Amino acid sequence: MEKININDLTVEELENLIESFGEKKFHAKQIFKWVHRLKVTSFDEMTDISKSLREKLKENTYIMTLDVIECQKSKKDGTMKFLIKLNDNRAIESVLMRYNYGNTLCVSTQVGCKMGCKFCASTKEGYERNLKACEIEGQILTVERYTNEKISNVVYMGIGEPLDNYDNVVKSIRLINYPLGLNIGARHISLSTCGIVPNIYKLANENIQCTLSISLHATTDDKRKSIMPIANKYSIDELLKACRDYIKITGRRISFEYALILGENDTYEDAISLAKLLRGMIAHVNLIPVNEIKNGMYKKSKEKSIERFMNTLNSCGIVTTVRRELGSDIDAACGQLRKKYIESNK
Ligand code: SAH
Repeated sequence: MEKININDLTVEELENLIESFGEKKFHAKQIFKWVHRLKVTSFDEMTDISKSLREKLKENTYIMTLDVIECQKSKKDGTMKFLIKLNDNRAIESVLMRYNYGNTLCVSTQVGCKMGCKFCASTKEGYERNLKACEIEGQILTVERYTNEKISNVVYMGIGEPLDNYDNVVKSIRLINYPLGLNIGARHISLSTCGIVPNIYKLANENIQCTLSISLHATTDDKRKSIMPIANKYSIDELLKACRDYIKITGRRISFEYALILGENDTYEDAISLAKLLRGMIAHVNLIPVNEIKNGMYKKSKEKSIERFMNTLNSCGIVTTVRRELGSDIDAACGQLRKKYIESNK
């Protein structure tokens, strides 16, 4: 029988497993804490667990660890980019960013991505598989082990589309949230989506207080279709209706990401049209000067257009910030390190 990956079990699932061994279920919480909070790598370190239960755990389960293949550190701002190897030798990326309010880890949710956004490096090598919940949470454990630092915020903005791996992503948020585990509050977690509308409704009803970020990047359906294939499936109208419902149900503000691309979506008229779309919504706009990816055809907007765009939105009463570019001296945009890894292994 194949051994069970113990990292992927919620406390309830651990309780069921332990009861199936004929043991008391309260041990589940102790074991969960050993695995997710104390980050042990062997069962023998679980000193408050009886030898016989440890033996049963060893026979039936294993503790998953992920290896760091490569770590690049920015000399400018300390941002660290990790290429992490999964147990099936596939590689994903996580990025550690340092802000004055704490360490934020950007996690991947899939190996590759199906969404095909034209400006994004993550999608170039295609899609391989979904990550399991424990592989998403495991990126935090791995980086905390590697750096000996605590992660206080998590953004689901790495490789993959979180709402295309819905069940595992929601489970991973619950694993990360759990008080006996990493205990990172949902308010410290942001999930970014290109806009899979039905799953925005589903997420709104999960009773998870995470922040939702929407990758909008354009203000008309035609323009959006030309850079994001998902726009062929859901119109901006449908997307924004789901956002309004999300705000109504959760009481949480939504953040809209808008990558500024030279000559594509960065004019004064674009800014006005974005302001009109978002009028009356509890929203925040995060402008991202597009990261120019290798062999990519998109160029970053000029400094002046970025400023004009931001000022126009702000003067329309929409809180707008420009994303500080972190780690610009290391392989910047997500997906590039993995792309290099795949190319070098070919
Ligand atoms: N699939 C999710 C999350 C991953 S990407 C999503 O689409 O939201 C996180 C953010 O970075 C998204 O807003 C995405 O559109 C943006 N992004 C991707 N490639 C980029 C690039 N080259 N420059 C700027 N932003 C980029």
